[in-house]
Amino acid sequence: MLEIKYTIDDITTLMYVDQVHIFSNFNKQWVTAASLKTGDKIIARNGSQASILRIVEVDTRKPNAELVAKLRDVKLSHNHHFFVTQQPQSALEVSCEQPPNDPLELIPYQLANKPSYLPNGEPTGHHSGPWVAAKYVDEVGNEFIGWGRANDRHCAEDAAVIDLKDKVADVSLLTQQNVTISHAYIRKYSKRGRLINTMSPCQYCRDNYGMALNDSRVGNSNVVKPGRDHLPIA
Ligand SMILES: [Zn+2]
Repeated sequence: MLEIKYTIDDITTLMYVDQVHIFSNFNKQWVTAASLKTGDKIIARNGSQASILRIVEVDTRKPNAELVAKLRDVKLSHNHHFFVTQQPQSALEVSCEQPPNDPLELIPYQLANKPSYLPNGEPTGHHSGPWVAAKYVDEVGNEFIGWGRANDRHCAEDAAVIDLKDKVADVSLLTQQNVTISHAYIRKYSKRGRLINTMSPCQYCRDNYGMALNDSRVGNSNVVKPGRDHLPIA
C-alpha cells in the first residue's frame, strides 16, 4: 500500500492506494501508482491536476495506531476515487463522477467537489453545500452569475438568486424566464469515498422559482426557512 501526499486546487491531502492502482497522468497516459514520482501530475475526475508531493510505502500488515486511524478514515482512504482510473466505476458512483458540461452547472459542482479535510484532520473550510448557481442574461446578451449554498435561513437556490441580485443593477428585471437556476450539488462521504450528489428542489423553491429551475424533479424536503427569495413570472 502507498501513502501519496498531493496538492490539488490549493489543498494538500493524502490518499492510500495499492501499488497497481491506475491513474491518468497529464498526458492522458495510464500510469501505475508504483511508478509515480514526486512532482508527477495526475488528473482528477473533475479535470483538475494534482501534484504528487511525497510517496511512502506503508506496511498494512503491521500498521501503527496512527496509520490504522488514517486507513479507517474514509475521507483519506477513499480519496483515490476522486481520480481518473482505468477500472470501471461502481454503479453508486456513476451519477456525479462526471462533471457536468454546462458551464453554469459546473460552478456548483466544483464548489461541492473539494476536500473537506486536511491530512491532519483539520477542516479545509470548503463547505459541502448544497451549492447552486443562477444566471441572468440581459436584453443585450450580458451574463450575470451568482452562487451560494443552503443554510438555516434559505435553500441553496435562494442563496444563488440573492447573490445574483447583488450583481445586477436593476433586480426588477429578473424573472423566471430570463434567470436559469442550476441543479443543487452536495458533497457526501460514504464507504466509497467522496461523492457529489444532486438534490432536487424543495416544494418552496419549486413554487418560488418554477421555470427558472434546471432541475425538473420535485424534492420532498419542505423545511420552512425565513430567508427565502422568489422570482416573478414575466
Ligand atoms: Zn428549496
